[in-house]
Amino acid sequence: MAKQFECTMEDCDFMIRANEEGEVIHIVREHAQDKHGMSMSDKDVRKGMANA
Ligand SMILES: [Zn+2]
Repeated sequence: MAKQFECTMEDCDFMIRANEEGEVIHIVREHAQDKHGMSMSDKDVRKGMANA
């Protein structure tokens, strides 16, 4: 089942959808770090993840 994650930061319209949960986690963590200087754990990402 595909997974998706939408960034909830203000003024950010980043959204990722992928077949692998691990891929979503990887990309979201990179995004959070690069765009928001924020470090997210795998757990943090999973909380915001939805089935797509
Ligand atoms: Zn963002």
